[in-house]
Amino acid sequence: MNYEVTVISPGVHSLAIWDSSWNSYNNCYLLKRDHEVIMIDCGKMEHDEALLDALRGLGIGPLEVTQFIATHGHEDHVGASSLFENALKWIHTQDTHRLTEQQRPGFHEIASEDGELCGLSYTLLGHHTDGSIALFDPVTGCLFCGDHICFFGAETQTDGFLTFGSELRTNTRNFVRQWSNSPEDRSAYRFDRYISGLQSLSRHDAAFLATGHGPVLTRQIAEFLTSLVDSQHP
Ligand SMILES: [Zn+2]
Repeated sequence: MNYEVTVISPGVHSLAIWDSSWNSYNNCYLLKRDHEVIMIDCGKMEHDEALLDALRGLGIGPLEVTQFIATHGHEDHVGASSLFENALKWIHTQDTHRLTEQQRPGFHEIASEDGELCGLSYTLLGHHTDGSIALFDPVTGCLFCGDHICFFGAETQTDGFLTFGSELRTNTRNFVRQWSNSPEDRSAYRFDRYISGLQSLSRHDAAFLATGHGPVLTRQIAEFLTSLVDSQHP
């Protein structure tokens, strides 16, 4: 099974599992801390063997994961969470209803719009789903934004999975510009909420942008996020 493991920063890895039915990477992240092994998102249940294999390559068994945080409740982010039997699991209260009966045991609810969890600061974005959150790691400057921004279907770039991603940035700016030009799409897909989410993401001094799907961006992250806000048609 096809997956790509990349060091983002010391102790932080992306584990991107290729989903051949969606033609996209579904991303998970592993953060190794002194007393915690934190997973952010976990891919679909049907890809559990690939996830276990990727974790094994990093010397981690699923029972060693102490904390699991879901950026939101879609199956490609929480599907394999039952593998982490010993972990405290977290999801925003507004996405709890998305968990299946099998997934629900062990989950605790994040009830606030912002706060701190496992040394990461979280913010409710509430656009992709009502309970979508972003997580920022002040130690490494990694900003995990779930699917608020993601590079669905994008493959590894010529300079690697960790990339500046000029083309990905340009494509995303074009997407925002086109969306902003359609009054129907603005109201149908809650454009204003998307923009306020970008504004809150851009306030972090982020070194990396780690999304729910596809390559991880490095360098000039706040500039990129601000450029997306500025791409909208007035
Ligand atoms: Zn997703």
